[in-house]
Amino acid sequence: MRANNPELRSWIDVPEDSDFPIQNLPYGIFQTADRSPRAGIAIGDKILDLAALQEKGYFQSLNIRNGTFQQDSLNEFIGLGKEVTNEFRNYTSNLLRSDNAELRDREDVDKMLVDQKEATMLMPVRIRDYTDFYSSEQHAFNVGSMFRDPDNALLPNWKHLPVGYHGRASSIIISDTPIKRPKGQTRADGQEMPAFGASRLLDFELEMGFITCKENPLGSSISTAEAENYIFGFVLFNDWSARDIQKWEYVPLGPFLAKNFASSISPWIVTLEALDPFRVPGDKQDPQVLPYLEFEGDKNFDVNLEVAIQPDGSSENTVTRSNFRHMYWNVNQQLAHHTVNGCNIGICDIYASGTISGPTPDTYGSMLELSWRGTKPVKMPDGSERKFIQDGDTVIMRGHASRDGVRVGFGEVRTKVLPAD
Ligand code: CA
Repeated sequence: MRANNPELRSWIDVPEDSDFPIQNLPYGIFQTADRSPRAGIAIGDKILDLAALQEKGYFQSLNIRNGTFQQDSLNEFIGLGKEVTNEFRNYTSNLLRSDNAELRDREDVDKMLVDQKEATMLMPVRIRDYTDFYSSEQHAFNVGSMFRDPDNALLPNWKHLPVGYHGRASSIIISDTPIKRPKGQTRADGQEMPAFGASRLLDFELEMGFITCKENPLGSSISTAEAENYIFGFVLFNDWSARDIQKWEYVPLGPFLAKNFASSISPWIVTLEALDPFRVPGDKQDPQVLPYLEFEGDKNFDVNLEVAIQPDGSSENTVTRSNFRHMYWNVNQQLAHHTVNGCNIGICDIYASGTISGPTPDTYGSMLELSWRGTKPVKMPDGSERKFIQDGDTVIMRGHASRDGVRVGFGEVRTKVLPAD
């Protein structure tokens, strides 16, 4: 039975609203008071401790070195490639099936399982390189309308190539890591001289990121047909953005200090294979793309996304609901474009989607768009208003796909904003 078959059930109890049924099996790195950093798989409210299993002699039939899971990143495991990691996924799925007694009936089974609430999640990978795309048409249209010209909101290249820029890997952080409001140069409208100070227009960007599992040699390219052999899985991605810094600095070379102070990711990497049942066609691409960007099959994913803002000492307010399916350029095209000039990608690079905005104002993926550049404050359910993110706010992103009674989710990425120094 395939690991994402909706009929599968685990002997581990999985609450109905859980993001982590046996069909998901996402990977992360965790530690507890008495367990050093190690790899695990989320299942229901538990974590399957892969290091503990390997110590007991599991996985010996697979081509996986002892110690692979007893470290603070998944890079070695992910770098084994799809053939091994897919076999591993099937192996662990089988081990967790309700009708398999091998692990279930062991006397020491509790030693291989950890309560998620007792674990601290760490960065799942050492990120080698980071690129951010700009692949949602509605987002590009909204930003182009606000900052340039509503009649020519998309620049002439936008529907011919997946626009992107090279970001900074060093400041990508795990969920639950607070950030400080960034400082920098801004220039107010009508002023001749810039000023220095804390950003006043701090924003989130609702994105997804994919993590790669294979290298291509420098000078070679990856076709859209081959791209999925290079994609291990996905995380939620909050591309923090300081709009006032961005506005002053971004011409002519694009985002720099407005973006590289922090990007937050969710801790569980949901594999491409777990998302396979949730494929949907993307919107029709018109004009026709160049041959190297053509593709076959359904390459978008139906993943519900939402963002909530929790003011200090208050409750959560959901401010937008979007969906990963709203991508004009799909991940196969992004990777094909990125490498068409011979650029090499590596193992555990991350490629973010760009802000994912849906077609209606309540589905936009940033406060910039939701508040339309601050002109329409967002009324939150608790009665307060937001144009941008305030000190003390916690921004929470969540995502899940759902079909045939199976919910495959990402958990959340949660980040509190602290005042500038
Ligand atoms: Ca972005």
